[in-house]
Amino acid sequence: MTKPIIFDFTQAELAAVLKTWGEPRFRVKQIWQGLYQSYWNQPDQFTNLPQKLRDKLFSHYNFYPLQAVTTQNSTDGETQKILFRLSDGRPIETVRMKYDGSPNSRQGRRTLCISTQSGCAMGCTFCATGQMGFGRNLTSGEIVAQILYYARQLGSQGERVTNVVFMGMGEPFHNYDNVMAAIDRLNDPEGLKLGARRFTISTVGLIPAIRRFTAENRQVNLAVSIHAADDALRASMLPVNNRYPIADLMAALRDYVDTTRRRITFEWALIQGVTDTPEQAHKLAAHLKGLLAHVNVIPLNPTEGFSGQATTRQRAQAFKSILEKNNIACTIRVRRGIDIQAGCGQLASQEG
Ligand code: SAH
Ligand code: SF4
Repeated sequence: MTKPIIFDFTQAELAAVLKTWGEPRFRVKQIWQGLYQSYWNQPDQFTNLPQKLRDKLFSHYNFYPLQAVTTQNSTDGETQKILFRLSDGRPIETVRMKYDGSPNSRQGRRTLCISTQSGCAMGCTFCATGQMGFGRNLTSGEIVAQILYYARQLGSQGERVTNVVFMGMGEPFHNYDNVMAAIDRLNDPEGLKLGARRFTISTVGLIPAIRRFTAENRQVNLAVSIHAADDALRASMLPVNNRYPIADLMAALRDYVDTTRRRITFEWALIQGVTDTPEQAHKLAAHLKGLLAHVNVIPLNPTEGFSGQATTRQRAQAFKSILEKNNIACTIRVRRGIDIQAGCGQLASQEG
């Protein structure tokens, strides 16, 4: 029988188990602090527990839900990508980005790009994860374990995780409950204490989930992969658009901003001659008029299964200028970790 993953449990759930074991109440706090403040995952690290309890814990629960298979560092050393295997052998990838020496407000950030699913069911044509197809949802503990892995690694260098973006493999709103449970566990003031504002969920635009997220009014940031400004073009690249067309999506997003007063980030991959045209820029500006929004454009990252090309610097600049003339803030993102296939949308296990 496979052991349950310790990181899948809330503190209250673990407390209930420890009660049935006849343990005093304070033990659960000690375990929790070990897991989420000291990032322990080995029996001999839990020096705060009696040996018998340590043995029992480790024989009942899985403390190693992720096996790091390969670790790749970009040549500039700032981006690291790890291929992990889950307990059933399914692959996921996690990317760590360091923002140092870059003269902007992101300086000092340690941002993790986390996976929420192995593969993805949404089938976006330009995305390596979409090209892989769907494997399965990650549990909340498997999501949490990715952050803890890097908390441990950065901690040993005197650093800490500052931001988490759900932009690795998978569609976070297709695994809503587990993603929110993971965020709740990481928010915990008795644990890792990573505030909700430090998380960004990126969605391809699943409207029912956006509405639920709006109603929950969380402090978590929202990013939306828009990529094209008319239905025919968007549906040709993002099949989800057939179910949730742009007008309906924009209506849900306007409700989100009205309710939460929070700004939305729109993601846009610039594909030469396809999505980098002045016509698309003007149409996008029309959709975003008056909305609390910011657009991140990124030249397409090349993937094996998609023939489109990245835009040029001049065309990216021209696209941005059109948005700015329409009073819409726009940032051109640099493609990071390209030499290790760690760029946006490039995550896919090449080992199968
Ligand atoms: N499923 C979510 C989050 C994961 S993808 C979503 O789609 O939003 C993270 C971002 O990378 C998304 O904006 C996605 O559209 C983008 N992306 C995917 N493939 C890409 C590629 N080849 N080049 C540039 N961006 C890409
Ligand atoms: Fe899935 Fe996002 Fe890739 Fe689309 S872009 S296939 S939603 S991971």
